[in-house]
Amino acid sequence: MSDITPWHSFRLRKAKDPNRPVIGAYGGHPRGIRAHQWPRCSVCGAPMCHMAQLDAGPWLDLGPHSRLTVFICHATGGRCEDWDPWKGSNKALLSRVRDDNLYDGPPTVRVYRRMPLMVDPPLDERAVMAQVRTHGVPVKTALEQLRHDKLGGGAVWLHGDDTPQSQAGQGPMRLLLQLTTDVVKFDITTGGMGYVFIDPYDASENAARFLWQGG
Ligand SMILES: [Zn+2]
Repeated sequence: MSDITPWHSFRLRKAKDPNRPVIGAYGGHPRGIRAHQWPRCSVCGAPMCHMAQLDAGPWLDLGPHSRLTVFICHATGGRCEDWDPWKGSNKALLSRVRDDNLYDGPPTVRVYRRMPLMVDPPLDERAVMAQVRTHGVPVKTALEQLRHDKLGGGAVWLHGDDTPQSQAGQGPMRLLLQLTTDVVKFDITTGGMGYVFIDPYDASENAARFLWQGG
């Protein structure tokens, strides 16, 4: 796995092969999140809903952190502008320590059913995009091959590039997770896509940002 570059991505799938490691889960109750850490929406104040929890590994570079947990506000039907990476109505929380304990959390308006996840072997996205140059494959067709739930690589945008910029003013953030509504029917409109980025210049637990684009 030492040849992994920022161009490699790992497709996420529902875990069903007992011989391969579970690297996280969509939905269910998040591990290791104590009540006081559970994020609340900055706009409406409601406790957010848990979407995803993914562990660092060769498939996911979280810098000094070992786990990513993603939450979103579903309390107001989108009025909190939960697609925005800066409004405080969603949260991509980074944790240094991998704590697998279950702690009580506040009641939330929605709990997605827990789905453990595994990853496919790494895919070199440069090879996919090279087909455009060498075989005349349309860009749209090439991007379609990357339009799935995955860790790393480049973001496939529905409505144009929304890559968040580092708050330290040192360029774009790096994609950690791209999610769709195919594996779990997340309430980000059918066909919508969500993206988690990390600021490589920020070592704090707030270095990651979530945003989504509607289908
Ligand atoms: Zn809200």
